[in-house]
Amino acid sequence: MSNTSITVDVIVIGAGIAGASIAAGLSEHCSVLLAEMESQPGYHTTGRSAAVFAPSYGPAGVRALTRASRAFYDAPPTGFCDGPLLTPREILMIARDDQGGALDALIETASRETVVERLDAAGMQNHQPLLRSGYATAGMLDRGGQDIDVAALHQGYLRQFKHRSGTLLRNAEVISLTHDGTDWTVETKAGLIKAPLVVNAAGAWADKIGALAGAEIIGLEPKRRTAMMIQEPAGFTRRDAPITIDVDEQFYLKPDAGRLLLSPADETPSEPCDAQPDEMDVAICADRIMSAFDIDIRRIENKWAGLRSFVADKEPVIGFSTRVEGFFWMAGQGGYGIQTAPAAAKLASALALGKTVPGCLTDHRFDPGRLSPQQAGPVVENLISTR
Ligand SMILES: Cc1cc2nc3c(=O)[nH]c(=O)nc-3n(C[C@H](O)[C@H](O)[C@H](O)COP(=O)(O)OP(=O)(O)OC[C@H]3O[C@@H](n4cnc5c(N)ncnc54)[C@H](O)[C@@H]3O)c2cc1C
Repeated sequence: MSNTSITVDVIVIGAGIAGASIAAGLSEHCSVLLAEMESQPGYHTTGRSAAVFAPSYGPAGVRALTRASRAFYDAPPTGFCDGPLLTPREILMIARDDQGGALDALIETASRETVVERLDAAGMQNHQPLLRSGYATAGMLDRGGQDIDVAALHQGYLRQFKHRSGTLLRNAEVISLTHDGTDWTVETKAGLIKAPLVVNAAGAWADKIGALAGAEIIGLEPKRRTAMMIQEPAGFTRRDAPITIDVDEQFYLKPDAGRLLLSPADETPSEPCDAQPDEMDVAICADRIMSAFDIDIRRIENKWAGLRSFVADKEPVIGFSTRVEGFFWMAGQGGYGIQTAPAAAKLASALALGKTVPGCLTDHRFDPGRLSPQQAGPVVENLISTR
């Protein structure tokens, strides 16, 4: 370790989308250092997503953060990015005859907040010509779906952070945190950093960072999800076709820049790590996709896996620790960390600096208290104590 010692107002741990976005927000008001253990920010989950903005996906708090993020996506600050962050991509949830109950429940919930359409088999075929005839009997179409330019969003936040004089420290794995009653001393593989406030945006490693700091356990569970790319079938011309998702989230398929992105929508519990695809999940994916679509999978062009990290209620965890001073959680982004990033960062920056929650969030019937670490932690601790 070098002898470098830097003092700032805030240290953000982890430079994925969560850390980059809150670091950019905070750096408008104070000095911020972003510590990333990899040489490449975005190397872990942020660089491995399916890049979908799905307003009807996820629990209530996630849906509210997604709706509240839309304004930023549509009109990012000048100079943030070179092109649009969103491109329309309808979302089609499909159900077999035996999945009618799940589809009804989904339509019920989604239609309270957004405009969705129920489709019959013929209607689904019009939108998704690859659907195998006779497989699905009904579906829900959400026209509010979008593809996200994830790299542009992530780079935009990192650029904004740099312009606001933020410091990004790469290869700076955090290995210890100590509090002297006033300040944190954070030991990283690139040197020592001191600050009164630490933000934990370490993705799948967030509970490990919490433990190093002596904070509460939020019960974060990293879950592996696999994705792969195949060639489009010959004669396929509908690159604007919807992302098509099984209503019980057993698989999905999305046209992606001239290829098809597939996933078995797996959620295999994992230790925090550099996740790799498992051959069994790849085979399950091919099998499910070939049952539901008129596609013959002969070759997988590339495949990858990433960790989606959830607490028990699947809502993100955004708020101060009540166990240790000056320790702020920005974790548990699950499968929604990209689509929610703009609003989550605004909320987190306001809470971390003790400012009022912006109206653009409260307008979306949003209760920040539901995302506090106290909401996530006690559930898990009670579970542990009853074992
Ligand atoms: C296959 C797949 C599909 C997905 N599809 C979508 C989608 O369509 N839409 C959507 O919104 N979301 C999607 N997601 C989820 C989304 O990618 C995540 O919610 C989001 O990327 C989480 O961001 P993060 O910054 O919390 O985590 P990460 O990107 O993992 O960032 C955490 C960072 O912390 C760093 N770190 C960890 N420990 C330390 C340490 N000790 N010291 C320093 N740094 C450390 C890591 O190196 C990492 O860079 C998908 C995820 C997967 C895997």
